[in-house]
Amino acid sequence: MTRALHQMGVAELGRALQDKAVSSVEVTQHLLSRIATHEHLGAFLATAGDAALQQARAADERRASGQATALTGIPIAHKDIFVTSDLPTTAGSRMLQGYRSPFDATVVARLGEAGVVSLGKLNCDEFAMGSANENSAYAPVKNPWDTGRVPGGSSGGSAAAVAARLLPASTGTDTGGSIRQPASFCGITGIKPTYGVCSRYGMIAFASSLDQAGPMARSAEDCALLLSAMSGFDERDSTSAQRPPQDFHAQMLQPREGASAGQPLKGLRIGLPREFFPEALAQDVNGAVRAALAELEKLGATLVDVSLPRTELSIPVYYIIAPAEASSNLSRFDGVRYGHRASQYGDLMDMYKKTRAEGFGPEVKRRIMIGTYVLSHGYYDAYYLQAQKLRRMIADDFQACFQQCDLIAGPVAPTVAWKLGDKGGDPVAAYLADIFTLPGSLAGLPGMSIPAGFGEGGMPVGLQLLGNYFQEGTLLHAAHAFQQATDWHQRAPAGI
Ligand code: GLN
Repeated sequence: MTRALHQMGVAELGRALQDKAVSSVEVTQHLLSRIATHEHLGAFLATAGDAALQQARAADERRASGQATALTGIPIAHKDIFVTSDLPTTAGSRMLQGYRSPFDATVVARLGEAGVVSLGKLNCDEFAMGSANENSAYAPVKNPWDTGRVPGGSSGGSAAAVAARLLPASTGTDTGGSIRQPASFCGITGIKPTYGVCSRYGMIAFASSLDQAGPMARSAEDCALLLSAMSGFDERDSTSAQRPPQDFHAQMLQPREGASAGQPLKGLRIGLPREFFPEALAQDVNGAVRAALAELEKLGATLVDVSLPRTELSIPVYYIIAPAEASSNLSRFDGVRYGHRASQYGDLMDMYKKTRAEGFGPEVKRRIMIGTYVLSHGYYDAYYLQAQKLRRMIADDFQACFQQCDLIAGPVAPTVAWKLGDKGGDPVAAYLADIFTLPGSLAGLPGMSIPAGFGEGGMPVGLQLLGNYFQEGTLLHAAHAFQQATDWHQRAPAGI
């Protein structure tokens, strides 16, 4: 074995397992001990321990009997937004402390059927609301590139665990950027598929019209392998897309018509929305993104100027629609059906009030209040309805762009990861930093973040790629071509 086990990504580990160079039990043991020595990162909220080793043994047997899939025996972990029957699920909230689901989320079940080994549950912002993982009720996650900085959010634990090489891959969810932004901040690869590609069944709901699951890993190739297993129609999610199972790995490898070995992206038109490169964009981010675009050009892509004129409006639109849906979704946490219940109360109303006052953190309360307000009689038309109309216009703007290009590119976030505590007292500052991920979310489009270099303080910078509906194959193909030509995605924090 030339490389330490934790250095291997999903595809590489799959080959090593297939060649019997290593067993799933060995990898699982190795990673469990790494997880134990990296507790200071705060990436995990629960670890599986012996149960993981049992799954690894079963995976090794399955491989020996010739029944393995590409993922059999690969250790991963799930964002603690996915419900699991074998481990507690908290959604990063005190409200669900100690909660155990009677069933597995569809994404969890499908990956389980493919034979992955689940090592545990990953820390995240409370109910996935946040961009820095500082809204977790348990502990803020630290960025492995600089433990004085945030890992991004809300899938901060998922990103930090992969970046610190505690796992080859993890699951995340993205409502307004929560896969792409932490992937960017931690120097890993993540894909948020088209709304409806992955089932939302068993994914604790934040904003149901926006929530999507996706994989986070080192490379586009590893993401493609995971996404193939996670995705697909599910009759238990009424917004699940009705289409046949997709082999995203095969789609990623599919050569483009007219392409050559040196020019794999020949004919691919990449649109650069001028609103994604504002004056206020940090120099370091701009520099890394421009260099990545030049690399894509070298690979044969053509860059074209496009416009998404309502980019700035996506912030107020999202921060009306998402809280509106959250206020409705979170009404189920009433202290009666499950989760936390206040220990002392007078009548029923008092029980509701005390339970929710104790169970929810400040950001969640803020959003419930905003959401309730914008939906209330007299304000609905002025805020919620207006936001819905603008949401449609934002989606239409993308369709106009896609007349001129196949993919859209830009930064994931306006800066690299900020210092822990920096935006803690200023929620609006954090909302503003979501500007480049929100438009694609509101339109329901697929998007990726891929490592594209480093900026201030040696922190990773991500390149965002957005595609039209169900163009995950094109996205993954372009990202893979970029990763074949560059090694940003292979860089790890010092000492790892
Ligand atoms: N940062 C955004 C928010 O706070 C997005 C979160 C997410 O995608 N779950 O809502």
